[in-house]
Amino acid sequence: MVKPVDVWSLLTLSLFVLTVPSYADDHGNFFDGAGGSIIAVPAADLQTLRSISANAAPVPEDHVRQSGADLFYFTREEALMARKRFGARREGGQTNGYEFDRNVPADIQKRMRDDLAFMQGISGWQATPLHQQIFGMVNGPAYFKFFSDRVTGIGMNNCGSANAVACVIPYLNPSKMWLTKNFIKFNHPQISRMMVVYHEARHTETENGNWPHLTCPTPFLDANGKDIQSIWTGAILAGEPACEETPFGAYGSSTIMLKNISKYCTNCTNKVKMDADLYADDQLGRIIEPDAKKQMLDDFGE
Ligand SMILES: [Zn+2]
Repeated sequence: MVKPVDVWSLLTLSLFVLTVPSYADDHGNFFDGAGGSIIAVPAADLQTLRSISANAAPVPEDHVRQSGADLFYFTREEALMARKRFGARREGGQTNGYEFDRNVPADIQKRMRDDLAFMQGISGWQATPLHQQIFGMVNGPAYFKFFSDRVTGIGMNNCGSANAVACVIPYLNPSKMWLTKNFIKFNHPQISRMMVVYHEARHTETENGNWPHLTCPTPFLDANGKDIQSIWTGAILAGEPACEETPFGAYGSSTIMLKNISKYCTNCTNKVKMDADLYADDQLGRIIEPDAKKQMLDDFGE
């Protein structure tokens, strides 16, 4: 059955293709990340939103520029606008599962399904209090529920950066996760890709302002006085909106998830557990509020 929204997508996709040059000019670097291949879907969705809800609050004409230095980010104001527009997510409300947009390539769909199946297969013998609070136990059903309670759709986008893997763009649709073509070219371990996916799933929480990032300090140095860099892109993070002040945000919660997998997973390989620990330790560096970081270290027993 052809749903009305599909018709709109098709119509607006055509409309968008005709107007690519002006849109790209107006939005500077937003489309510069995909090696010149312009991914029309998000803008088409933007057009769709404008078209089908003329009486609703306006979709912003512009949004915060992406530096490409790290994961996709949005402003607190954009999250507030999304909440006003779409309403708050019902906490604990079960969605009807997620659907892929029809233009998501089969190999990307397969990778995502395989990754989620991997998460769904995890068993653990214990969980830290913060993990229990956010996810429940360290096990597949809890991780699958966390994801499927939050993400209703998966589409393609370039997420504002040549290095991005996935993103949530609250003002387009706060419960939709976008994947980039890098999802199948990702040269980091699978568990770190899942860290990105669960980081992004946390960003769907309109009831929590979508947990926007915080700007990292300048300078932003590690214990050895060296500039802290993104583990994904190598970019220096000083002054970038790539930090957090709470254990419960997108960086914090996904760090807690990986740390618990590294400590308590009973059916993961040693490599998965070591990778999980490595990436959790790296992302813990993004938590810049000392009390929040201490709360996490205490939670981990470290
Ligand atoms: Zn984020």
